Amino acid sequence: MASATRRKAARPRARSAQLSRDEQRRLWAPWRSAYITRSAPAEPGCVFCRARRSRDDRRVQVIHRGQHVFAILNKYPYNVGHLMVALNRHVGEFERVRLEEGAEWFQMAQDMAALLKRTVRPQGINLGINMGRIAGAGIPGHLHLHLVPRWSGDTNFMPVVGGAKVMSLSLETLYDVLMKAQRP
Ligand SMILES: [Zn+2]
Repeated sequence: MASATRRKAARPRARSAQLSRDEQRRLWAPWRSAYITRSAPAEPGCVFCRARRSRDDRRVQVIHRGQHVFAILNKYPYNVGHLMVALNRHVGEFERVRLEEGAEWFQMAQDMAALLKRTVRPQGINLGINMGRIAGAGIPGHLHLHLVPRWSGDTNFMPVVGGAKVMSLSLETLYDVLMKAQRP
């Protein structure tokens, strides 16, 4: 599995190594602005509740389901591999999380961190919950924990060596990589 991922990643890395710094900035900008303005999703309602109810995990990009929580890719990622672990219940207040939900939430966050480490191989990972819109929550009514892989220099644009090879992965390809890596 790991060698297959490396083989897939090798070709885009060679190509992106030729990009100028301006090209890298342009490549990076659309993702970043989509994240900041949160221009989507277009459909009404709660995206987490819809994803939880969906029977098509690949379409909604749910990568793991537990009893109380599920993990889903962020469609407007801050970085490659940006995923979230959301509660099944539509609840926005952290203090209302039940003990059994919290235990599984923490466990799945650990599993997802390990999954990211062995797939996109970040140099670090940010984990965080934004409670309330003022704190940056795009969907304040439904608690979710972000896991954002980090690479050196990624605050301005993805570095050529560390980031560009994984940045070139589409969300669909990334989904397949993460699903494959979870198989025993
Ligand atoms: Zn919801």
